This record gives sequence, structure tokens and C-alpha cells, in this order.
Amino acid sequence: LLHLEGVTVRFGDRAVLDRVDLAVEEHEIVCVLGPSGSGKSTLLRVVAGLQSAGEGRVLLGGTDQTRVPVHRRGVGLMFQDHQLFPQHDVAGNVAFGLRMHGAAAAERTRRTGELLDLVGLPGAERRPVASLSGGEQQRVALARALAPEPRLLMLDEPLGQLDRGLRERLVVELRGLFGRLGTTVLAVTHDQGEAFALADRVVVMRDGRIAQAGTPLEVWQRPASEFVARFLGFDN
Ligand code: ATP
Ligand code: MG
Repeated sequence: LLHLEGVTVRFGDRAVLDRVDLAVEEHEIVCVLGPSGSGKSTLLRVVAGLQSAGEGRVLLGGTDQTRVPVHRRGVGLMFQDHQLFPQHDVAGNVAFGLRMHGAAAAERTRRTGELLDLVGLPGAERRPVASLSGGEQQRVALARALAPEPRLLMLDEPLGQLDRGLRERLVVELRGLFGRLGTTVLAVTHDQGEAFALADRVVVMRDGRIAQAGTPLEVWQRPASEFVARFLGFDN
């Protein structure tokens, strides 16, 4: 579904992404791991079209996206800080993407209800977002990202600020949810436990390059380099 070929992004003379090649298959869940500043968010922004690649190509469904604007790429992006719209209630936030896609009011109401059920917040439509807990807000942000049914869903630290217990529970729920919906997912996390629980494949980044890509088992059993081993915490 998604192919990156030699994607390079430079800020000044520094390559934040350096000739990145990556393929994500339909229905696959890929998690990107790596230290802060290694280029994870930039990778998602390039795929979404929020950042242009100086060199290389991004293909979705075999089509070069270079000249395709953000809103026509059919990708959903949940940002690292998952800002909800505070002036809208829960339903207003979830339906935002549907409105952008021209769905009728009745259809928006029905889909919003379905999505809130899916993320475990049934009946929360009229609640102001400020009244929700952090975890509930994160679920609303997820429902908002899922609403337009993107062919590729990209999540940047989707469980960011949540406590460990809630993260572990949500990871299991998300994995089930994506499986049921058949969603293709490219997710960034700095939590390897989360990545290993969620992903079909993990990608470890270092300084704008892919240090290793493989199934969680492969990466865990055979880290490709000392860097990967250390990053995963096997340095004893
Ligand atoms: P984190 O885990 O902290 O979110 P990350 O892996 O997502 O890190 P990126 O946000 O992709 O990292 O940033 C990679 C590097 O590129 C960082 O050093 C960042 O400062 C730099 N960078 C990102 N955007 C810009 C920009 N617009 N101008 C200059 N440098 C930038
Ligand atoms: Mg980031």
C-alpha cells in the first residue's frame, strides 16, 4: 500500500531522513521506534504530505504522491499532541473529518455513534472535551482519525501521556479494532513494549535512517546492530 523510496529530508545541511526505503502492506500494522530526534514524526509528515521530501518518492497504492495535496492522499494522521478542538463537543470532534468529506448530517451522526462505541466511549457525543480524562481524550482523537476511513492510518505516539495500565489495555483494544476494520497502520511510539504488542512489523530508526526492520520476534531475537540491541535495552 505504502512505498517510500530513498526519501530524504534536509533541514540546513542535516539529513533528518536519509534515503529511507520502507514498504507497508495492506492491513499491516507497522510501529516505528527510535530515540527522540531520529526522524519518526518527520517520516509520518512526509507520508501525509505535510512535509515535502527533498529527494525520493512516496507512493500510495502504487501512485506517486509528490503532487498530491494532503487532503487527497486518503491518509489519517493523529498527531503527537492529539489536540482536540476545545470549542466542539465529542461528536463535533469525531465528525470533523466526515464533514470535510461531505457526509450528510444523518450519516455523520450514525458514524459518530459507531466510532464512539468502537473506542469504548458509547454515548459520549454531547460531552465537552474538557470534561474528559486524558485517556478518553486520546480515544476521541483516535475516533476522529478513524472517521474518514483512511486507507492508511498514521498515529504519532497515540497513547502518549497515559499511564502504563491504561496503555497496556488500549494497545490490546487497538490491535483488535484495527484487525476488525482491516486498517493499515503506521504508528510511532517510543515504548518498545507497546510496539511489540501492537505491530506486525517494527522499524527502528537512528539518525534519519532505518537501523532495522522486521517482525517483533526477529528484532528481539536478532538485533541487527549494537545500536538496536542497546536501544531495546539488551545491553547487559
Ligand atoms: P521525538 O521522539 O522527540 O518525537 P522524532 O523522532 O519524532 O522525535 P522528528 O520530529 O522527526 O523526531 O525530528 C527529527 C529531527 O529533525 C529533530 O532533530 C528536529 O529538531 C528536526 N526537525 C524537525 N522539523 C524541523 C524543522 N521544520 N526545521 C528544522 N529542524 C527540524
Ligand atoms: Mg516525534
